[in-house]
Amino acid sequence: MNNDQTDEELRATIEAGKLAEQELGRRLAVKSEHAEQRIKRVLSGDNTAAFDASELRFAAFERCNCGAGMAYAVDAGIHGAWHCSAILRGNASREVKHTPSMPFAFYEVKSEGQPSANGATTREAVEQ
Ligand SMILES: [Zn+2]
Repeated sequence: MNNDQTDEELRATIEAGKLAEQELGRRLAVKSEHAEQRIKRVLSGDNTAAFDASELRFAAFERCNCGAGMAYAVDAGIHGAWHCSAILRGNASREVKHTPSMPFAFYEVKSEGQPSANGATTREAVEQ
């Protein structure tokens, strides 16, 4: 902290921080809205909206009934959900019954990004 700054300068810095926080929040909201729209499209069978593996965070252990790992879109907001990664990737079999989506609000699923997962992931080796 620079103690040479005037009160006015410190107030201006605080105000700039608030504006930056608002702008960052707005950008994140746009990203998560975009991700939600893509998820809706891909869940309804529109594979042109499919995600790359790099856009997904996979579960450490949790798998869909079809065998693919559960995953979520990294840009999904706090109201997101775990979905079958084969569906999100646009390469799911229509012959199999997939595990229904698991909203974050209702399910505790350990992600591959958790330190306690010790590197465990359901991500396919070829997708890493
Ligand atoms: Zn599945």
